[in-house]
Amino acid sequence: MVKNCATCNRIFDDYLDIYRNCPECREKEAGLLRQVKDYLWDYPGATEGKLREVFGVTHQQVTTWLREERIEITPDSSIKLTCLRCGSMILKGKYCPDCAKRIGVQLEQLKKELSPKEKRQHKNIYSMVVDKDMAPGGKMHFLQNASRERRSDSERNLRDSEYEE
Ligand SMILES: [Zn+2]
Ligand SMILES: [Zn+2]
Repeated sequence: MVKNCATCNRIFDDYLDIYRNCPECREKEAGLLRQVKDYLWDYPGATEGKLREVFGVTHQQVTTWLREERIEITPDSSIKLTCLRCGSMILKGKYCPDCAKRIGVQLEQLKKELSPKEKRQHKNIYSMVVDKDMAPGGKMHFLQNASRERRSDSERNLRDSEYEE
């Protein structure tokens, strides 16, 4: 796939369609990232203004690196990054540990709900148990008293439908 580099606008070939930038700009970015990383290691309290001054990196670039967890700031850093869900201060990534956990749990639940296989299995087990319990008792009652059986059957159905919900 042929596309334009998001940084220098030059045309480049991207067979798998996974890059935003041309190889040259990617290499430049990787080099810049290394330098910024080293700099932040030496000066953990460096401001974004300082990074712009020294390396010419934009706020957008710094934020992208932080969100992608390619750089990390220290708690006393003047660079601010917030959780996308609750807005509390974080040092890297998109979410605070609390929200990340909650989102993880929600995703698990969603996956379970979206999995029809698991649900069907569960239902089969349930109906098997009910069939086994109902069949012999029902027959005996039927022999004893047909009209009574009919009533208790409908009662039982009512109970069952309540239980199922
Ligand atoms: Zn480029
Ligand atoms: Zn959060």
